This record gives sequence, structure tokens and C-alpha cells, in this order.
Amino acid sequence: MTIFEKIIAGDLPASFIHQDERCVSFMDIHPLNEGHVLVVPRTPAARLTGLDPETAAHLFTVARKILEAIQHTAIRCEGANIFLSDGEIAGQEVPHVHLHIVPRFRGDGVKLTFGKKPPAADREVLDRAAQTIGAHFKRRA
Ligand code: AMP
Repeated sequence: MTIFEKIIAGDLPASFIHQDERCVSFMDIHPLNEGHVLVVPRTPAARLTGLDPETAAHLFTVARKILEAIQHTAIRCEGANIFLSDGEIAGQEVPHVHLHIVPRFRGDGVKLTFGKKPPAADREVLDRAAQTIGAHFKRRA
């Protein structure tokens, strides 16, 4: 069982933004920037091709809505990196498909290196971000 399956089952804590029948989204515990969100399908497929096409497409629909929600918060978001590492060779650490949404702003110093992790954030900080983004997400539901 992967970490993400445990989060979805409620056996590990997470700062959720939204949950629906196909996927969930929550704050990344090692945020590359404030507002780093993961969109994760409920199906525990390791690779994108292991998902049915509707669920794969849904991840992107939700990511778009989360990005729109982030843009309505005070989180700095002049742009964003939205990416999915498919397979260990591509830098995937958790073998359960997930889409990253990383808000970006000029001078943030973020380098996408795939492998080196920033420190873990405080749960309180993640919960606050999830609540703020979630409030805007729901308005767009
Ligand atoms: P990847 O390298 O694409 O597999 O990304 C896995 C992501 O999951 C990393 O950005 C981790 O920081 C994140 N992650 C690992 N454990 C947790 C957790 N318990 N809660 C939230 N995010 C996590």
C-alpha cells in the first residue's frame, strides 16, 4: 500500500482541498513553493497508462480548477509548473499516479531537479493553505 492509498483511506493525515468519486487533492508535504498541491486518483495505479482515460483526463480538469482557485488567494502565483513524473526513471518516488501543481513567481529560486526534497512544512501551514484554496475551489464547483 502506498502513502497515497493510506492518505485516501484516512490512515495518514493530509491537508485536503477536495475529494470526489475519482480523485482527491491535498497539499504536498515538501512544498517546492507555497501552494504546492497534488491531485491523486483513487485508483492506485502506479503509471498514467494504468488509469482509465476518463480518470486521467479528470486529473487535469481538477488541476485546472485548483490553479484557478490558487489564483484567487494571496498565494503568489504568476505562473505554475503542472507536471507528472511517470515512472522511477522520470523521478517518480510515490508509485501512485499524481499530478503536481507548483505555483511560481519571479525570483522564487525554485529548480525542478527531481530527487532533492525541500524540508517538510508544518501541518498548520498546510491546513491553512488547503482551507484557503479549498474555499475558492468550492465556489468554482
Ligand atoms: P514524486 O516524486 O513525483 O513521486 O512526488 C511525490 C510527492 O509526494 C513529493 O513531492 C512528496 O513531497 C509528496 N509526499 C510524500 N509523502 C507525502 C505525504 N505524506 N503528504 C503529502 N505529500 C507527500
